[in-house]
Amino acid sequence: MTEARDWHAEITRWTERFRGEPRPPAAFAAALSDGWDPAARDALAAGAEEHARHQRGFLEQLRREGCELVRIDMADDDCSVCEDLGGKVFAMDDDHPDLPRHPTMPLCPACRHRVNLLTPFFLSSLGLTVDDLAGGTDILRDLE
Ligand SMILES: [Zn+2]
Repeated sequence: MTEARDWHAEITRWTERFRGEPRPPAAFAAALSDGWDPAARDALAAGAEEHARHQRGFLEQLRREGCELVRIDMADDDCSVCEDLGGKVFAMDDDHPDLPRHPTMPLCPACRHRVNLLTPFFLSSLGLTVDDLAGGTDILRDLE
């Protein structure tokens, strides 16, 4: 059910996307200044596939356990595009039409943000319900 991602095609697209970004990932910053080193590009693609595979496995596990909501947690060095995902809440499936479905992980090939389980207990500890999240997915980040 999961299609393999064409990382080299994505790297080509993201290289253009990162032109002019304030904080592109280091590998892309180097490529934008000096062009792609084929070995660095292969390493990036391999690392992206490995991270994507781990995230797919974790999402499958969450789905089997009946998890409905996830939050995306940033890695320390996520780029200026991916950082907008930080702390946002996503639905696992189509049971929460007011929430976006989680994006395919990772968003860009270089960043290593992760999905995390978001439980009703955690929400209630913040005084929130799912309905509170419907209007704005960044509400949890605002609270952190
Ligand atoms: Zn990124």
